[in-house]
Amino acid sequence: RPELSGDFAALMEWADAIRRMKVRANAETPADARVARGFGAEGIGLCRTEHMFFDEGRIVAVREMILADTENERREALAKLLPMQRADFVELFEIMRGLPVTIRLLDPPLHEFLPKTDSEIADVSAAMGVPAARLRDRAEALHEFNPMLGHRGCRLAVSFPEIYEMQCRAIFEAAVAVGRKSGETIVAEVMVPLVGLKSELDWVKARIDAVAAAVAKETGVAVPYHVGTMIELPRAAIVAASIAESAEFFSFGTNDLTQTTFGLSRDDASKFLGAYLKGGLVEHDPFTTLDTEGVGALMDIAVERGRKGRADLKIGICGEHGGDPASIRFCETIGLDYVSCSPFRVPIARLAAAQAALIGKK
Ligand code: PEP
Ligand code: MG
Repeated sequence: RPELSGDFAALMEWADAIRRMKVRANAETPADARVARGFGAEGIGLCRTEHMFFDEGRIVAVREMILADTENERREALAKLLPMQRADFVELFEIMRGLPVTIRLLDPPLHEFLPKTDSEIADVSAAMGVPAARLRDRAEALHEFNPMLGHRGCRLAVSFPEIYEMQCRAIFEAAVAVGRKSGETIVAEVMVPLVGLKSELDWVKARIDAVAAAVAKETGVAVPYHVGTMIELPRAAIVAASIAESAEFFSFGTNDLTQTTFGLSRDDASKFLGAYLKGGLVEHDPFTTLDTEGVGALMDIAVERGRKGRADLKIGICGEHGGDPASIRFCETIGLDYVSCSPFRVPIARLAAAQAALIGKK
């Protein structure tokens, strides 16, 4: 794992003595987690579990899970994924030992999981023992015109609760295993994506609590855990006080919050943003540098209202902006507790957070 040394390490230590905000990393692979730790990340702020599912050895089981017609079929596919997901979390907890790890429950744009070719359908058909035609119909039924604003995040869990139940079981069982081996208590941080309604978070939280209780009963170990939510929809920012009653932490998903505030597809913006930049209509690409006037105003509202709902609410950011110095400066002014960015940006974020602390609050 990379280590900072010499003058670079000394400079980073000076920055650390000044900064107020913590710096975490977005990581889901062991390699990224090691880089993050080596660069001084103080935890994982976002583990995107959907990235784990594209692995060649499991994508067929993932497609089985998505294309299942019945809960039973879905549970069969999930039973294949559980040991792999548990092993993912064991490895991350081990690498990050002593530091917090925030695991975000599945948030795929569904179209990325759907089979596209005949041979992909044939693989799933063979694994499930069902006709390819049935799978094709099911894939057709799940097709969306606007997947980034569709059947994603907690919406997927409301349709198919077994998916999050499997993931939570994997998280808690991994925490028990690593805790037993190391003799340390592993605290799990579980994050729910794309929440816009308090009822969505409550619905998912009830299932997280039930799985935690079941694993505690089976293993005799009650894993301490925190449940939080992404804030990535304008509605979530506006109703933050009530959402905070059910969330112990917030993490701003500013990639989606930028998309949803501007009504601008994050997948298509590059096709026309260039003309806006060239014409001087915008100063920055809002997906790179936070639009403080619009998106930032919603964040400010969410921080203020969220802390009204829960005084000790922990708040961070895990969108791309969490590694951008100008955006980090804004995060300091609205009083965030931490930023989370890609592993190679951690040193820059440490410096930017120190500079922001020196400049001070708004
Ligand atoms: C975000 O929306 O800012 C975020 C971190 O989640 P993702 O990019 O995975 O949608
Ligand atoms: Mg998001």
